[in-house]
Amino acid sequence: MKRIAILGSTGSIGRSTLSVVEAHPERFSVVALAAGSNVAAALEQAKRWRPRLLSMATSRAADELARKLKGAGCGDIEVVHGSAGAIRVATHPEVDFVVSAIVGVAGLEATYEAVRAGKSVGLANKECLVAAGELITAEAKKHGKPLLPIDSEHNAVHQCMRGGRLEEVQSVWLTASGGPFLDTPASEFSRITVEEALNHPTWKMGQRITIDSATLMNKGFEVIEACRLFGLAPSRVKVIVHPQSTIHSLVEFVDGSLLAQLSVTDMRLPILYALTWPERIPSGLRYSVNDLRHLDFRQPDMQKFPCLALAYEAAEAGGARTVALNAADEVAVAAFLEGSIGFDEIPRVIRDVLKETDVRHPESIKQVLAMDSEARQLARERVEQLKSRKAGTRRPVVAK
Ligand code: NAD
Ligand code: MG
Repeated sequence: MKRIAILGSTGSIGRSTLSVVEAHPERFSVVALAAGSNVAAALEQAKRWRPRLLSMATSRAADELARKLKGAGCGDIEVVHGSAGAIRVATHPEVDFVVSAIVGVAGLEATYEAVRAGKSVGLANKECLVAAGELITAEAKKHGKPLLPIDSEHNAVHQCMRGGRLEEVQSVWLTASGGPFLDTPASEFSRITVEEALNHPTWKMGQRITIDSATLMNKGFEVIEACRLFGLAPSRVKVIVHPQSTIHSLVEFVDGSLLAQLSVTDMRLPILYALTWPERIPSGLRYSVNDLRHLDFRQPDMQKFPCLALAYEAAEAGGARTVALNAADEVAVAAFLEGSIGFDEIPRVIRDVLKETDVRHPESIKQVLAMDSEARQLARERVEQLKSRKAGTRRPVVAK
């Protein structure tokens, strides 16, 4: 029986993980959960899964949940909160396996502490690796514990890597759906609405990653994630647009062979793979080879999607630049979602923050978090400038 903690249990990956656990009760049990501020969702999960420990993002949400749990006869579940609470979930002594699926840098400390506590970790939260990949992978190596990628592309690469040794890898090819604006002319990007950007053609995911997929920043993060997970230079991690999202990624070996992983577009499959590795167990997630008629591929357009080019540049520089890449993107995406900046302004904010970020290499998570706050501050200032410029252009002209 594998005893599991889920960081981000109420999100898209968290819920998919619980549905995998539900399908295999003989293999998995839930020990601890960490969620954000959705008390109703956390309450339902607590009643269904009866974890020993549950953490909420804020003390207010935790108090409300604790009260409701008592009323529902589940007062034995301990409720904690904040980043210290998420760390307790990630390091609970009865937990063997931690699924890291909080969105953004909010999940960094708990994920790092899970690795430090010697847990096996299934990693969905790519932002952790973008911001602090060197520290996390070094710690996992020290403990001889696996970091199993749940991100579908890296999960595919992990599977293909079983076909050869790391020294035999020429390149890794990450596939990208291209998002909803693959064929939209760049001249229309300033008019893209939040609703249009949230309408991803092949995957249903949380808001941040959906917007990141539309700008191709998600693919940029994944390039950095692949470099750090598999120890590859950025020049050896390539991106190819594949709108059907059927091939989840490919590994090219030195002899010229390419291995690819194909499956349904359903995150329960990479989650199941991570939870059961090194075994494979039967699942109902079939892909019909008869449906394999038409697969398209094309080069990504880095001019139209500058976020991908910015990510490659940050990957080459490493350290504070990748911390800033994620932090600036987090702020810019939030500003776009609340209607403060345009879709085309997301890469502008990130580019300006990167320009102002010196390359330094963090030696601790504390230093990563300090660099993260610095970059966030720069990004917020840039967003404010863009907002006031916009307000200025909208101001009606008054006749003298
Ligand atoms: P989501 O927005 O649906 O869920 C995020 C979860 O994190 C929620 O449970 C939320 O309550 C929790 N959370 C947010 N802030 C928190 C905080 N401060 N403290 C504790 N919990 C907090 O996002 P998602 O789509 O499930 O994505 C989660 C992660 O997985 C992201 O890093 C994303 O890039 C990655 N990922 C997701 C997918 C996908 O298909 N959804 C695929 C690949 C990778
Ligand atoms: Mg992915």
